[in-house]
Amino acid sequence: MPLNVVMLGPPGAGKGTQAERLARRHGVPRISTGDMLRDAVRAGTELGRRAEAVMTRGELVSDELIIEIVRERLDQEDARGGFVLDGFPRTVAQAEALDALTGARGPLIVVEIDVPEAELVRRLQGRRVCSRCGANAPVGGSSASCPRCGGPLVRRSDDTEDAIRERLRVYARDTKPLVDFYRARRTFVAINGAQPPDQVAREVADAVAARLAPATFDTAGKATS
Ligand code: AMP
Repeated sequence: MPLNVVMLGPPGAGKGTQAERLARRHGVPRISTGDMLRDAVRAGTELGRRAEAVMTRGELVSDELIIEIVRERLDQEDARGGFVLDGFPRTVAQAEALDALTGARGPLIVVEIDVPEAELVRRLQGRRVCSRCGANAPVGGSSASCPRCGGPLVRRSDDTEDAIRERLRVYARDTKPLVDFYRARRTFVAINGAQPPDQVAREVADAVAARLAPATFDTAGKATS
């Protein structure tokens, strides 16, 4: 059965790290819409030009644009056997579009990573990313260069105090309602993200394994028995 996972949670919850680990474990791609947009900004494409200012302010790019990007990405060969989505969906309209896109591919497992707001702010203010390859540097690390490619570590342009506040506000308003959208499904699970990353990874792996061997699900992940 394909592994179709959505990693849900506020900025700074550790979604990227956990999505990467889960994807690697199951040999499926991690699909981060934020990374795809940042790549487009770095490459100076039309998409990048359209997204850059919106991202720097901490707002969301339009549903229409992001749904199209994800539709094309899920059509690629490597996503046929499954995927871990990181940063998508972020609105109810995006979640509905995702159901329509993936309905025939088996159940969608939704993992919410929960972290208190004060901890999120602390993490985002201290976060450093590689300006060359986009990798996250370990939180609290003292190295000035990227552990993956040796590139220089910088603050993300949307990790400023104003943009952090705006992103948390946008999350509460537009993305948190997705928890209600998905909660009724047996394929939904909430994990405490305010724990060491290895512990979070173990809980995510266990939760996903339990939901990969379910009773019977319809294509939207709702239990039918
Ligand atoms: P992230 O790396 O997931 O925190 O995303 C960084 C920024 O990219 C967000 O603050 C948004 O401006 C934009 N973005 C990423 N994913 C989406 C999405 N699913 N819908 C709208 N905007 C997005």
